[in-house]
Amino acid sequence: MEGKCTTIKETAIIGSMRWWYEAIVRGMGGYACDPTSEKSCQFDSKAYDEEYKQHLKANESKELASKYALEAGLKKVCPACRLFGCTGWKRRFKILVNNFEGTFTQGINGGYSGNFEIEFYEIFNVSDSEKWLLYQTLQIIENYGAFGGKTTRKPQNNQVGKDYGLIKVNFVNADWARKSDYNETQKWIETITENCGKSNNKNWFNFRYYWVIKGEYLDRLKMNEIFGLDNKGNVVTGEDEFLEFLRGNRASSGKTGSSKKIFSFKSGNKVFGYVRNEQELDIIKRKLQTKIKQDTSPIITGKDILQIIQNGRDENV
Ligand SMILES: [Zn+2]
Repeated sequence: MEGKCTTIKETAIIGSMRWWYEAIVRGMGGYACDPTSEKSCQFDSKAYDEEYKQHLKANESKELASKYALEAGLKKVCPACRLFGCTGWKRRFKILVNNFEGTFTQGINGGYSGNFEIEFYEIFNVSDSEKWLLYQTLQIIENYGAFGGKTTRKPQNNQVGKDYGLIKVNFVNADWARKSDYNETQKWIETITENCGKSNNKNWFNFRYYWVIKGEYLDRLKMNEIFGLDNKGNVVTGEDEFLEFLRGNRASSGKTGSSKKIFSFKSGNKVFGYVRNEQELDIIKRKLQTKIKQDTSPIITGKDILQIIQNGRDENV
């Protein structure tokens, strides 16, 4: 994998992968919690213990008992937490980042530029659907998105125009990812979601409402226009909930800020972002069409991308 990040920390890479993975789970109709929220998933160790004891009492093998006990403990754990971990449940794979061949630069615009390798190791029991989904996540990040470097969960939040996090995925071996497919994974996601009994917050990143334009770049001023800001960054529109959502809010007095919902990469030549529903997708498409030239690449949505994947074009979707 080649990459360009401001810092290369395994936790940041995993955090960013998780952010995309969650969105894709939601885009495929499933629930994925917000791991930073108080309501994030927890492994139910009490349910685990009870189930384990019951099966041993029924003279079943320890192996079988722990299989059922795990299912009980994980019942309310979303697909993303199952792979990436949550309270009481460890992440089920690890990565090693090495072979840096690039250069690190210091300062606010500093970062890493060059190649590096990520090796994936299964710790235990990563299902075929999870492997498939992880693979698709990396493909999507490469083809349509970017890795966040500075925050652990999001692509860069408030420094529009700064390039980083664009990756090139180079799989040495991808056979591990081919034992499942879209439909099977979707069923797996739906079953977990039903058992979970929870639903997504409408403000969370759902890949279905993702959009990307390849070969384009929005400078700060065009971006400000879309956000309803003047060239100094002051709000020029009246109260507008959608624009507020797009702009995100900067962290202030103890509150955590939410990130901007449009990201532009000069060197990588793509602009992408997300909204919350079909209606907003139409609004953003109209706004973008007026800000970019006519002969531009079409706006591709997450829904389109998922459709392409479902139709079986796994390689270079
Ligand atoms: Zn979760």
